[in-house]
Amino acid sequence: MSHFLLKILSVVIRLTAGSFCLVTVLCATAFAGAPPVASTPWFADALVGMEVGPTGAQFAGGKHAPDYARNFNGRDIVQRCLQANAEYLVLWVRDGDFTFHNSKRLPKPASFGDRDVLREAADEARRHRLPLIVYCQLQYPAHDLRLNPDWKARAADGKPIDHLVCYNSPYTNAVKELLAEMWSYGISGFHLDMVDQGFGPPHGCWCDRCQKLFEAAYQRPMPKGVNWEDDGWDKMLQFRYATSDRFEKMLTDSIRGLDPRATVDFNYHGNPPFSWEVGQTPVVHAGNGDFVTGEAGQWAFGALSASFNAAWYRAATPGKPFQVAVQRGVRMYHDQTTRPLNDMRWEMFTLLAHGAFVTMIDKTAYDGWLDPMAYDRIGAVLGEARAKRGHFRQTPVHEVGIYFSTRTRDWMGRDKPAYYFQSVQGAHKACVYEHIGFGFLFDENLNPEGLRQFPIVCLPNTGILTEREVDLFRRYVEEGGNLLITGQSGQFDRMGRTLAQSVLNELIGAKVKARLEGADHWMRFGPDANGTSAGNAGASSTRAASTLARSNVLTTDLRPDWPFLVQGPATIYEPTTATPVGQLLDSHRASLANPQGYNSDWPLSARQVVGPAVLVNHAGKGKVVTFAGSPDLATASEHHIVEARRLFANAVRLLNPVPRVLVSAPANVEAVVTDDPATRTLRVHLIAYNATPQTTPAKERPYVLPGLIEDAPIFRARLEFRDGLRGAKALNPTTQLKKRGNRVELTVNDIHEVIICNY
Ligand SMILES: [Zn+2]
Repeated sequence: MSHFLLKILSVVIRLTAGSFCLVTVLCATAFAGAPPVASTPWFADALVGMEVGPTGAQFAGGKHAPDYARNFNGRDIVQRCLQANAEYLVLWVRDGDFTFHNSKRLPKPASFGDRDVLREAADEARRHRLPLIVYCQLQYPAHDLRLNPDWKARAADGKPIDHLVCYNSPYTNAVKELLAEMWSYGISGFHLDMVDQGFGPPHGCWCDRCQKLFEAAYQRPMPKGVNWEDDGWDKMLQFRYATSDRFEKMLTDSIRGLDPRATVDFNYHGNPPFSWEVGQTPVVHAGNGDFVTGEAGQWAFGALSASFNAAWYRAATPGKPFQVAVQRGVRMYHDQTTRPLNDMRWEMFTLLAHGAFVTMIDKTAYDGWLDPMAYDRIGAVLGEARAKRGHFRQTPVHEVGIYFSTRTRDWMGRDKPAYYFQSVQGAHKACVYEHIGFGFLFDENLNPEGLRQFPIVCLPNTGILTEREVDLFRRYVEEGGNLLITGQSGQFDRMGRTLAQSVLNELIGAKVKARLEGADHWMRFGPDANGTSAGNAGASSTRAASTLARSNVLTTDLRPDWPFLVQGPATIYEPTTATPVGQLLDSHRASLANPQGYNSDWPLSARQVVGPAVLVNHAGKGKVVTFAGSPDLATASEHHIVEARRLFANAVRLLNPVPRVLVSAPANVEAVVTDDPATRTLRVHLIAYNATPQTTPAKERPYVLPGLIEDAPIFRARLEFRDGLRGAKALNPTTQLKKRGNRVELTVNDIHEVIICNY
């Protein structure tokens, strides 16, 4: 064990001892027979907790071995979670086949005998005033569907979808009864997982109940299946979203009816890579319940999903706390492995720095055994989080608002939304690697106040935009905001059909001459960054001339006259009022007789100039920078070259030359800047992702999964403060910090560091 790990463990052992003293004091004041009473709900100040459930719960189809959950004991779980510094416990109680309490509705696992696991946990949690939340699965109610096949969702051909339930069926009442049974145990709330209508085909629901409801709502029959040419399919999507929303609201109301203090949260899937199939939209379905809960899960969604999801959940539920679930396992909840401590720390502190509260999930052994090594490490990471509590939940300092359009997800993304998602994910990735503060904005709740939070709003290949959205963007720019537009934004109608022109033409200051097919496009910038042969309209004005002088910012760190790949959708623009900068080139694919017949997985080399690379336009007090290509998508793509990302970052700097805090650090270090105006304190969190190299996988080569983080790296960073700096100190005693005027130079040796700066 490294010296570093020993140090962390010794800190945590002290913390653990401390938390037991606290628990003893609290116990003396607890009273039996009622859930913990507090003036604020348990989640308001919660920072870290645990979810515990037996592995195998989802996979046996009711045919569990006799050992299943035999040692899954509510009292032991509460005690171990307290020792591991959990501030609340989400206990797995109901899966598809069983419930873990004495129920009139559902059976228990055979191994329980007379035991009632929820009773064991509730009694022990009450003694320690530990908020106990019941995990209740919603979407795969195998036992209920065996008894009530009529509740199954139905595909367009009328065939039942055996694993999915219809949310317009009487299943709702069954869930309500079950929740009432659970509430009688004196718990604090419910975690409901989840209201999804499936992650792929077959899609539902075409049952008789749904058909009748649809016809009553829209005065027309349901479309006969997925059909993106049919306006009726638009209605069907709205119907599906409304179904999930109504189901969630019915359960929320029912829980409030049990007791207004009961809390409820739904496991949410309105974020990429999930799309219309699940039946959720980003904002509406995040808003049901007391707070949103989602999963970061680098095992399924990649390491960048931690910061992406946290920022997304914040934006989807403005002003509310938001919860992110992570897991102890290396690749999956149920894989029975345990990640190294630093791997857990990197994810935990990424999420906390972004303002989330975090639930660590432990899937016990098949028989319910609790792995002591896992609990040691979980205790260490949760303890460290609690020790650093005062450094989280401040206001984020944002620079770029990344725009997400549900309409574009649905009607351009259709059955392959990943391509649109990559533009959004690439904008996020560029911001993370380049240490640019970011947040998200949604079409569902777009308003002028939301836009004004950000000096820059990025439209990453936002194909579909309504008149209202364009009006809001126009007003935002006229009042001094800045837009960064990429790809083929604004070039599609509400059904995803191509338009002759972009609805953003006026803001961009150019007309669409042609939309380029394919994805292998290139950009080149001459020494004056203005080597375009595609015209220089607008350059005669003084403002445009000064823009050109500044536009060298666009080419910082880029080799002049070198074409580089910017993979993704592209447009040939003809400037009207904008100043063109650089050149967009097509590839040799364009000269092939059968362009798609030649290895479509690999981009082909640069061929010839087809238009300007970038357009810089002014409107009112603000600026608009438009990329004729997609440096955002390029950054997320398999053919990411660093220069494409630099170009994106350079455009941000052109639009907002002096940010409040400029952070320079290695690309594998994420920076999160927060502000506490009351104490005039800026905090700069630095979180290092330091994965180890890997060998080839046993299957699906070359898709190598990232290695685990074992060690804390040593790295340098520099901070520059726009508005002056009175003092700066590092949280970690091993960090070397030098303050020179408004600059701070750092050498950090840890996964997570916080630089606390007074202004
Ligand atoms: Zn139905």
